[in-house]
Amino acid sequence: SAAQEALTRLTVDVPDWPEPGVTFKDITPVLADHHAFSAVIDALAAAGRDDHGNVAVDKVVGMEARGFILAAPVALALGIGFVPVRKAGKLPRAAHAVSYSLEYGEATLEVHRDAIAPGERVLLVDDVLATGGTVVATRELVERCGGVATGVAVLMELGFLDPRKVTGDLPVSTLLTI
Ligand code: 5GP
Repeated sequence: SAAQEALTRLTVDVPDWPEPGVTFKDITPVLADHHAFSAVIDALAAAGRDDHGNVAVDKVVGMEARGFILAAPVALALGIGFVPVRKAGKLPRAAHAVSYSLEYGEATLEVHRDAIAPGERVLLVDDVLATGGTVVATRELVERCGGVATGVAVLMELGFLDPRKVTGDLPVSTLLTI
């Protein structure tokens, strides 16, 4: 697809960043190219439609920070609302919080309690699915609100990290698997 072609051509591999041994996928050149950005947003938004092309979700959640850049235009493309999931301490009102373990230490993500109504169907959107920890924590936040996570859509899945062992039964839509 045009989205896959653009991702393959424009994503930059950055060796040893943010630490030695890790190769970081820098997707900012994809965002800087209008045609590429537009193609990947259309492709991500498809994960929020059913087989007939009808919108099948009620909210799009984006995870701080690159998830925001993708999830907001996906929400506009689908004609539904966007909800930010933020790192601890950033949201001004009553929030649910979920902590999860990283390679070194712990991280906490939060969502406003009233951002998702009970029963709402929610599509998660992020740039890269790596270990899957961020997605699992975000799904838990959606469920704490009473919502249902229907799937996650990402630009890229780092298959060698086996994220689907962690994401379990949550449907994953990826434009590219590394
Ligand atoms: P996970 O929780 O799946 O291990 O990590 C996913 C989160 O870390 C995502 O929010 C993603 O933005 C970020 N991330 C991890 N590795 C990469 C990478 O190589 N490139 C980019 N752009 N983000 C990454």
